[in-house]
Amino acid sequence: MSAEPDIDLLSPLQPIIGKRAADALSAQLEINTVGELVRHYPRKYVDRGKLTDIAGLEIGEHATLVAQVEKAVLRDMRARRGKLLAVVIRDEKGAQLDCTFFNGHKVQHLIHPGVRAVFSGKVGVFNRKLQLTHPQFEPLDETDEIRPFISVYPATAKITSQEIARCVRQVLDMLDDPSDPLPAELRRAEGLAELGRALRRIHVPESEADFHAARNRLVWDEAIGVQLALALRRHATSSRPAAPCPLRPGGLVAEFDERLPFTLTEGQRAVGTEIAADLERTHPMNRLVQGDVGAGKTVIALRAMLQVVDAGRQAALLAPTEVLAAQHARSLRNLLGPLGQAGELGAAERATSVTLLTGSMGTKAKRKALLDAQSGEAGIVVGTHALIQDHVGFADLGMVVVDEQHRFGVEQRDALRGRGELAPHMLVMTATPIPRTVAMTVYGDLEISALRELPGGRSPIATTVVPLAEKPSWFERVWRRVREEVAQGHQAYVVCPRVGGDTGKADPDADLVDTDDPDIGADSDEGTARRPPLAVLEVAPKLAEGALEGLRLGVLHGKLPPDEKDTVMRAFERGELDVLVATTVIEVGVDVPNSTGMVILDADRFGLSQLHQLRGRVGRGSAPGVCLLVTDMPAATTARERLDAVAGTTDGFELARLDLELRREGDVLGAMQSGRRSGLKLLSLLRHEEIIAKAQVYSADIVAHDPELRGHPGLAALVGEVVGDEERAAYLDKV
Ligand code: ADP
Ligand code: MG
Repeated sequence: MSAEPDIDLLSPLQPIIGKRAADALSAQLEINTVGELVRHYPRKYVDRGKLTDIAGLEIGEHATLVAQVEKAVLRDMRARRGKLLAVVIRDEKGAQLDCTFFNGHKVQHLIHPGVRAVFSGKVGVFNRKLQLTHPQFEPLDETDEIRPFISVYPATAKITSQEIARCVRQVLDMLDDPSDPLPAELRRAEGLAELGRALRRIHVPESEADFHAARNRLVWDEAIGVQLALALRRHATSSRPAAPCPLRPGGLVAEFDERLPFTLTEGQRAVGTEIAADLERTHPMNRLVQGDVGAGKTVIALRAMLQVVDAGRQAALLAPTEVLAAQHARSLRNLLGPLGQAGELGAAERATSVTLLTGSMGTKAKRKALLDAQSGEAGIVVGTHALIQDHVGFADLGMVVVDEQHRFGVEQRDALRGRGELAPHMLVMTATPIPRTVAMTVYGDLEISALRELPGGRSPIATTVVPLAEKPSWFERVWRRVREEVAQGHQAYVVCPRVGGDTGKADPDADLVDTDDPDIGADSDEGTARRPPLAVLEVAPKLAEGALEGLRLGVLHGKLPPDEKDTVMRAFERGELDVLVATTVIEVGVDVPNSTGMVILDADRFGLSQLHQLRGRVGRGSAPGVCLLVTDMPAATTARERLDAVAGTTDGFELARLDLELRREGDVLGAMQSGRRSGLKLLSLLRHEEIIAKAQVYSADIVAHDPELRGHPGLAALVGEVVGDEERAAYLDKV
């Protein structure tokens, strides 16, 4: 008898499972070590107790059964190209059933007489006989036969679930129970199974209770990995030195407050006080302010920037698009009045200046702006993320404000914090309400303040779904309604999902905001090909000659040259245009109080939070706003339910929660894991809220006492599983 080699979670797989299987796992699933394989969990289990007999099948039911292949014949298909595999299967009681597979030549090698497998699919009828058409199937081996549950793994065509199951069992047979990364007292307090036991049970459960208990324990590993990573990051960023910016009595902030034409809301005041205190400290502020559209975040940001300027430093405000950057610069100048006119006639004594910096500015103007930033002449610099991140040297950058950056990830924020000796204070502003679990993960590096009230004088927005499938005549009423708004001296937006024109590509500016939105086009694979989404460049001329003839129409999208975008935006702001036909470039930040109407075409192509953002563009003045969600999706579809949800509530938090439910959560958590294979397999932002919250408290406590995780090598390894070893090393280095 040969001695078996000692294996642990880091051991390579090849000596245990052989070269062919090891190569396939590596190439197909990026699984290279024992640890990676045992963390490749089954995606479901087939419960033998719930299998159906062929004799008892009924038409239309979804059946799962175990049977043996009796016959498998490859045939030409009549109607299409390719071969069909006609199969007859037989269960233990001897009953037979026909199955057909369309991709015959591809599955032929897996399905041949003698193979036993789990078949599952919908029972149909063909030639007056019951049959399963293109069922899912999982071949079985002898060891499967005696187990109460058959584990079904995420697999590929090149390595089947059954092969993976075999490899996992081989590995588990040789693996001694690994040392448990979770401290015993935590396991005891939460009633968690030990790691070794949980791993065995998740792969080879004896009962339903087994895999539930196993999953519960393994979810904790992931939650702790994530929360520790964030706690380390918080610790690393907040322990860097920063320049303190004490509030100066009688300074710009005080003067600004005196000139403000309105009184701050209680929320603005409270959040302002928090920020002012943060800025006085010798470590950087890392704060997110969440407040619905129109809640008045700009004033908060401006007061913070003035505090920084009062301390003799500079502040940068970053917007996601050039349109927004230009608009921000204008509204900051407006709000500041003489306080923002340094160097100009009529400026206040202590005045500062607002410098705009965008890629499309002329070379000369750009050079001047860059110089002003470098010399310190410019107190406040406004620009787009890309520009400021890459090109600008500041004399003394004290604070970075990132506006409306809800698709910005943890890493991008880290890049903005820079590597200089002093870290800038960071203030992030978003209008997207953030569900609790998202706040604890994606924004886990930030403290969060919320503005819950809107300033008074806001008008309600009435949202209505216009279902063209049932009410085609309403389309004409939509445009009549727009004309009515204009007749009353107001303005309106018409939003389309696409720019149109040559490429059919998405809007480059809008892109910054919505490319990752999985909701867009989510219905496109529902079988029947849908027409392409409506496009600005096609809709605008039609409206101009048709339904909105005689009105002053403008067109705005990200493909316009930047100066043209700016011209259009200004014309709309000044009321020289009645209707703006646009893409989602207007989603964020655009503030024209006189606009009261919004028509969103193909509304079903947008995400819920996005629709909420869009409609926030109307009703910003004293007149009530109306938002019409036009769709041709039929009633009783999910698409329509989503639109009804938007029409039914103005509660952004509720919509954000629904949005999270509807989108694949991987996309949210994926933002944490830059490009590497996901270490998060079980953790769900919806189902594991309590575990995530507890893990956050626990992790913060551990990091406070042991910021280098010296006493917790197992926990350090868990962090590595979630964010990758390099990144983990980076946090630990920064400490
Ligand atoms: P958002 O939070 O969407 O960025 P803004 O800061 O653009 O909101 O504010 C929206 C509008 O409300 C602006 O015109 C701003 O001047 C105004 N505003 C801000 N705070 C108040 C307040 N306390 N009272 C009245 N109006 C306010
Ligand atoms: Mg804003």
